[in-house]
Amino acid sequence: MQEQVLTGVARRVESKATMPTSAELLATASKRLYPNYKPAPIVFARGKGCELFDVEGRRYLDLCAGVAVCAVGHAHPTLAKAIGEQAARLMHVSNYFYNEENILLADELCAKSGMDRALFCNSGAEANEAIFKLARRTAYAKGEKERTKILAFHNAFHGRTMGALSMTGTPKYREGFGAVDGVVHVAYGDLDAVKAQMGADVAAVIVEPVQGEGGVLPAPPGFVQGLRAQCDQHGALLLFDEVQTGIGRLGRWFGYQETGVLPDAISLAKGLGGGFPIGAMLTTEALASGLPPGTHGSTFGGNPLACAAARAVLRILDEEDLVRGAKIKGAYLSGLLGDLAREMPAVCEGERGEGLLRGLVLKPGFVVRDILPKLADAGVLLTAAGERVLRFSPPLVVREAELAEGVAAVRKVIGTLTT
Ligand code: PLP
Repeated sequence: MQEQVLTGVARRVESKATMPTSAELLATASKRLYPNYKPAPIVFARGKGCELFDVEGRRYLDLCAGVAVCAVGHAHPTLAKAIGEQAARLMHVSNYFYNEENILLADELCAKSGMDRALFCNSGAEANEAIFKLARRTAYAKGEKERTKILAFHNAFHGRTMGALSMTGTPKYREGFGAVDGVVHVAYGDLDAVKAQMGADVAAVIVEPVQGEGGVLPAPPGFVQGLRAQCDQHGALLLFDEVQTGIGRLGRWFGYQETGVLPDAISLAKGLGGGFPIGAMLTTEALASGLPPGTHGSTFGGNPLACAAARAVLRILDEEDLVRGAKIKGAYLSGLLGDLAREMPAVCEGERGEGLLRGLVLKPGFVVRDILPKLADAGVLLTAAGERVLRFSPPLVVREAELAEGVAAVRKVIGTLTT
């Protein structure tokens, strides 16, 4: 194949001439990046706390944290130092050997969660692949060859790999890809629909304690407790997808805490690395033999660099009391959004969520994706969760003044929709 020449922008950067402008970079992006995303036309160059700055130095208030990822904000000095020091010491050895950071992170996560074992990977989808495989392999090892069904929920989001995608409950994401056999979806919150599906063929039920992408929808009272009872009765595993809800986001370390329910396994990613890619499956000792050597793995999973980053995130969350802070600041944000919804009933239906995962629900006919560009123009970054929910998932280091600034911008933009 013939080699191609660098675009003008890349050639200039290579020759250390002037730095390219946003417009030049966007022109190159439009030619060179695979177009599976549709990003806002903003090119970021740096961040600090809850602020992001584009290539020209324009400031944006980041209240989405890279979709609930940058838990300790941008460029936190403790996290940056931990990554830098670990990179200079040891980055990767593979899972043919142990490494110190990996063992210590497993121990720390188990202590915080009440789980017993950790398996590391690189993303939320991979963590969900692991719990999916754990469920089927556990039944298989017990000789229950028919126990393969996985029960999941409409509007659930579990990731884009084929196993995780099959559990994802939004048909448009699965369209054209097919699905892994044996995954059944029922309505979130509908225990009767769950009961109708339960039986000796069910390997596991997978649930988000608050549906994130599906619209920041908390599980209704009694739902996860009912799932636990159903799983116990029918010998199925209860799996919690805590990719978005875990690591303090809901104002507690993990979403299942405070529900009185202990899942059999959970998946984690997003906030765990504070922006450094890492995912994990945590599970109980009873399931430690579910995936014996040779049945599952990852070249990069659990490497010392990712684990050092995650350990630094956990340390920062503790030192800065950010998990308790997420509860307090979440209540403050809930108050602001509730006031806004009451003030603008023509556009807003209400607000919901837990901790610092909250949504402003718009009335039918209003589409969040249409207002995100206006908010970005006003210097505030938010995301959509479903069609009609404006999602707030700020860094847990966010200050109340920043939340107020963001909600004021939303008020202004929403005000223009009715005039
Ligand atoms: N599970 C949940 C609940 C998520 O919100 C997401 C991502 O949004 C995923 C899984 C997939 O994670 P990743 O994009 O890291 O594969």
